[in-house]
This record gives sequence, structure tokens and C-alpha cells, in this order.
Amino acid sequence: MNNLILRIAIPSPLQRCFDYLQPVDTDPAALQPGMRLRVPFGRRTVIGVLLAVSDETDIDAHKLKRALQLLDETAVISRDVLAMVQWASDYYHHPIGDACSSAMPALLRRGQQPAATDTTGWRITSAGRAVETTALSRAARQAKVMAVLSAHQQGLHRNAIDAPASVLRALADKGWIENCTLNEAHLDHTVMPSIHTLNTAQRRAVDAILAQLDNFTPFLLAGVTGSGKTEVYLELIESTLARRQQALVLVPEIGLTPQLLSRFQRRFQVPLALLHSGLTDHERLAAWRQARSGEAPIIIGTRSAIFTPMARPGLIVVDEEHDASLKQQDGFRYSARDLAVWRARQLKIPVLLGSATPSLESLLNVEQQRYRQLDLPERTGVAIQPTFQLLDVRRQALEDGLSQPLLQRIQQHLDAGDQVLLFLNRRGYAPTLMCYDCDWIAECKRCDARMTWHQHDKLLHCHHCGSQRPVDSICPRCQGSDLHPQGQGTERVEQALERHFPDIKRVRIDRDTTRRKGELNRLLEQARCGEGRLLLGTQMLAKGHHFPNVTLVGILDADHGLFSTDFRASERMAQLIVQVAGRAGRHERPGEVMIQTCHPDHPLLQLLINQGYPAFARAALAERRDAHLPPATAMVLLRAEATAADTAMAFLDTVAALISATGNRAVEVWGPVPATMERRAGRYRAQLVLQSEQRGALQRLLSSIVRQLETTREARRVRWSVDVDPVDTY
Ligand code: ADP
Ligand code: ZN
Ligand code: ZN
Repeated sequence: MNNLILRIAIPSPLQRCFDYLQPVDTDPAALQPGMRLRVPFGRRTVIGVLLAVSDETDIDAHKLKRALQLLDETAVISRDVLAMVQWASDYYHHPIGDACSSAMPALLRRGQQPAATDTTGWRITSAGRAVETTALSRAARQAKVMAVLSAHQQGLHRNAIDAPASVLRALADKGWIENCTLNEAHLDHTVMPSIHTLNTAQRRAVDAILAQLDNFTPFLLAGVTGSGKTEVYLELIESTLARRQQALVLVPEIGLTPQLLSRFQRRFQVPLALLHSGLTDHERLAAWRQARSGEAPIIIGTRSAIFTPMARPGLIVVDEEHDASLKQQDGFRYSARDLAVWRARQLKIPVLLGSATPSLESLLNVEQQRYRQLDLPERTGVAIQPTFQLLDVRRQALEDGLSQPLLQRIQQHLDAGDQVLLFLNRRGYAPTLMCYDCDWIAECKRCDARMTWHQHDKLLHCHHCGSQRPVDSICPRCQGSDLHPQGQGTERVEQALERHFPDIKRVRIDRDTTRRKGELNRLLEQARCGEGRLLLGTQMLAKGHHFPNVTLVGILDADHGLFSTDFRASERMAQLIVQVAGRAGRHERPGEVMIQTCHPDHPLLQLLINQGYPAFARAALAERRDAHLPPATAMVLLRAEATAADTAMAFLDTVAALISATGNRAVEVWGPVPATMERRAGRYRAQLVLQSEQRGALQRLLSSIVRQLETTREARRVRWSVDVDPVDTY
């Protein structure tokens, strides 16, 4: 007795878990997978997560150590999340201990107690009930709170009231409202009816999903930009809430805009649990707790929110499912979209993936009848799809990246009182500094990359490692002084716009203009309300926003994606063009999109412009099939990096040899090759590509290879990682 074996996940670089004896004085009946324990590990004490209880172990009895302390009374990683984490740890070949850590807010990783949920709320007092509505005619925000609380006499949770603390305090000082404690039965949820009646396509999509509630089917909602996808999500969430269940909404990193939030807040006066990278540790734990207790019926977050426990899960939505930021690119390289589907299947709840430009992965899943596609083919209301025009800029004199025809069109749209949006996915003033005498180019000392000239701080920046240095005034190679910026970034285009349109208010949105907290929202608001008439920016400006009065969109450089070494580049470019173009003409006046390119005859570009994204995607998928590339095959990237030039390549050579020694024929091995940018931040990088038509064979091979690598000597001299289903093959 007292000798149960606990299988525990420990934060360590090893794939396996570790066996311990149960802590003294612990009731075996109290042990549940997903609880945290403090255990001795090497010379340290660490916090691990219980995966299973057993009475057997392969470890010699005298070597077994005893766990020190059980930290929880209930599991902090819920059963369904733990199952998902274990699956993901296997599938992505990532250490289980670290995978478990990803599933917990930082404070829980450090051993803090999750603590009880906050159940304080506000309710109206009898004095408040006697107040005439006219008494607050000049305090609109206070009046709104009074109206909401009158409708909820038993009280509302603080987070369910859309008002700043100062407004609540002012009302409390008057004695009209007071704090109260809510119990779950009192967590009343208000849903405002939609201001729109769903159109036929939206209705059909909602009904199709509601008809399959008990019958797991992933849905792909393919809706052109502005077709009302979000409205479909809201309708489904409403019905989820009506069933007293919770909805989890995943959005890409830059998708969690104030506009989206206020849409949720307007429709649902319920506590929203928000999970994104900008939270403090305490805020994150609070949101996690509200989701776990069921107090927040709606959870909205970026990719790691997929690990949020829910008391009554009822629906998962993944917005912009094609977006690369849903895949974690370092450490635990999981795809939040794919985990969403896995989790929903396990929970037997509906999952909805939405996009105007679905990933080829999801389209293939539709073709193979694993997912069901629902279409929203038209924009809502009177808005129609914009028209496209390719501008051949090969024989044009560009002025800081702007062609004459584009400049003329901008003038016409501005004259008509409309807004114009220009897109350039490159920040800074110029991406290159060049010597006209000897063709020297300013490069980063730590990367195989050019330095970008930034004018705001008069420095050269490397966008890959972050290093900075003063702009050279004399060529270090020939000592000449004929140094010039080449090409353009957003800073340079902004200056050109200032020269051409001096009286027009501009708004530039990129990483440099939005560093200060709150600045992005301020600039977006200027763009949205129409105060800024010329909008210029990188993809921060391009995605998800609704600017009703933009009628002209200019894409300054569409060529980047056409000839890249990454096989996904053209898909990315097409998605970006469609998303940017989607900002145009979302209102009464039709929009137009002008695309500057040196390759107006490029077949994929032609297809996209003339026949639209679905036709483009069909062709791109056919190309991938012919080339045996994902999603037609499964791909894994083994990456390695080291400070000395050949170490990473040598390590991957060893790996390739290990693989070929297995005699496995189902898996193709390519490389190793140096990465496209071989040196980054002073480290040399290389990669080995594994591919197979049989995902299972590839997975089995990887499991055995990864286990062997943990013990080889070469592996300790490099940083190496496994990336299953990579979204970025640089
Ligand atoms: P998407 O998410 O596909 O870009 P949205 O849901 O944001 O589209 O809808 C675009 C615009 O159309 C929004 O302003 C929204 O309020 C409006 N809208 C959505 N559904 C309807 C509808 N059925 N009738 C009228 N307007 C609608
Ligand atoms: Zn020179
Ligand atoms: Zn660098």
C-alpha cells in the first residue's frame, strides 16, 4: 500500500514521462490525471502533471523516488485538454512535460492555486429603482448601466456590464447600484437580438450546422470578404448560449481587434474571457478561471486559447483558418486549427473553420469528405465584389514605388470624397542601402540578410535578428560616398504621399507606428471613422478590418510571393491579395483594386484576378499534387542550428543516415540543405525534409528517430527541432 506509481509529465527536453511513488499521506482516491505534483528531479524540485496512475513500472524499485506533494484538489488540466495535449505531444514529437506547460497559465506552472472564481457583481438598489430615466439624460453611460441593471434585478457580473469602473463608482456613490455576490444560477446572460436578418446563404449555413449538433462534422465556412461570416458565428454562439453551453472562438494574432470585440459585446452582455499575448499573468489566470468555471460563456483568444478548459463546451470557431499565425512557429509547434478539430471531435461538438481564402489543407479535407463546406458567395446588403486591374510596372517610372496610373486613380478617389488604402508588406524607408560606385550592399553582420534603412531613428535595422547600426555615410569597400537607398518601405511611400497629397490626412499602420500601447487602436479608429483618408500599411492594416468608405485599394508590390523558395508563397500571396482587396467597397459604392506587378502574365495571378480565389486554389492544389507537396503529402521538417558553420549540416547528415539505415521506403528524405537564410543571429541553420504519402509511416519513423537522437552525442552540439506540418519552410 501507499506504493501506487504515478506517471508524471515533467518540464524537460525529453519526450518521455517519469514514474514516481505517490506522496506520503495522499489518499489514492484523490489522485486524478491533470493534477499538479511537486517532485524531486535531479537536484531540483519541479512541478509536474499527473498523466496516469498505475501499479506497475519498468524502473527498479530502489531507484523510484517519491513525489513530494499533491498541489491540487481538482485537475487543473481538464480531462479533454489533457487527452489533446498527450495526442499533440505524440503527433508533433514534442516533450510531454513542455506540452503540458503550454496548456497552463504561467502562474499555475509556477505552482499558484487557481483560486475560486470571482463572483462579485452589481445590482440595482431600491433607491436606484425609483430613479426617473430623465434624471440621467445627460449621462448616457450611466443611463445605459441603469437600463441594463433594471433588466437584471438579481444582478450582473462585472464583466457583463460594458462600462468603465468610474461610471459604476459614480452610480454607487449616488446609492443607486451596489455590489452583490452572484451564484451560478444568477449569472444571467443577455443576448441582444441581431440587427440583421440572416440572408439565405447565412441561414443555410447556420441550419446545416444546427442540424449536426450531436453528430461531429467539421465545417468549412468559405465566405467572400464581407459576406457575413462573423454574423454566422454570432448566430451559432447565440444558440450555444441558449443551450447553456460555452463557445470558444480562435482568431489569428492580429484578428483580435476592438471592432470584433465590440461586436461580441454589443450582441452578448455576458462575461467574455479574452486570451491573448498582451495579458498580464494575473489577467490570463483570471480569464482561464472564468472559462473553466463556466462563468464566461464565450472565450475568445489567439492560438494558445485552444488549451482553455471549459465547463460546458458547446462550439469551437476558428476564424481566418488559413492564417499562418494559428501554427506556433517555435517550441511546441502545434496547429491550433488542427487541434480545434481534434478537440471538437473528442467532445462531439461542432467546429467551424471560417475564411474568405481557405487553406489548401482544408479544401483538400472537403474534397476528401472529411470536412463539409458551406459557402457564402456574396457580400451582404448592396455591397458587391471589387473589380481588379493589374498594372504592368516594368516600363513605368515609379516614384517611390507609385506608378502614374495609380497616382491618378488615387487623386480621383480622393476628389470624390472616398478613402484609399495602399498595401506594402515592408516597413522602414528602404530595404537596401547600396553603393553606386562598387555595388556594395549593407548587410547584417549576424545574418545572411540586408539591412533595412529606417528614417525615423536614422538607423539600419535587421528585420531578422533585430540588430541596429548607424547608416553608413562612406562605403566600407571603396570609400566612396555615393550611397543610396534602394526600393521602398512604408516610411518612404508615406513621404511620397505627403508630397503628392499634402492636404490629405494620412494614417500609416505598421509595426513601427504602433509600438506604443493603444496606438494601433487609435490609428485604426482614425481609419475607420474616415478622418484618415489615405491609409497605408503592412498586413496589420490588411486583415479583418472593416473600413466602410474605402473604394480604392492599391497593392504596391505583388511580386514577392511569385518566385519564392517557399512552396506556399503563392498561396500566401493570393490570400493576402484577396484579404487586402476585401477592404475595398464594403459599402454602397463599388470598390476597385489596382495591383502593381512586373509579372502581369503570371498564370496564378491571372487566374486569381480573372476567376477568383476558388479557381486559384483548385489550380494550386493540382500543382501540389503533381509536385508531391503538402497537403497532398505529409511533410516534416527537421531543423538544426549551431554557432559553427558545418555542425548543423553534419548533425542532419547523421539523422539522414539513421533514417536510411531503417530501410524505410515509405518516407522520402530531402537534404540536408542549408536554410534559405543560412546564417541568422549568428547561427548557421540547416534543414532536412521528410515526406510521405502515408502519414502513419512518417509518424512511426519519426518516433523512433527522435528517441535515438535524444541519446546521440551530436545532438547535444546543436539546437534541433521537429516541425510536423510546417507552415514555413525557410
Ligand atoms: P465577414 O466576417 O464575412 O467579413 P461580416 O460578418 O463582418 O462579414 O459582415 C460584413 C458586414 O455586413 C458587417 O457590417 C455586418 O454587420 C453586415 N451584415 C452581416 N450580415 C448581414 C445581413 N444578413 N444583412 C445585412 N447586413 C449584414
Ligand atoms: Zn562602394
Ligand atoms: Zn540580422
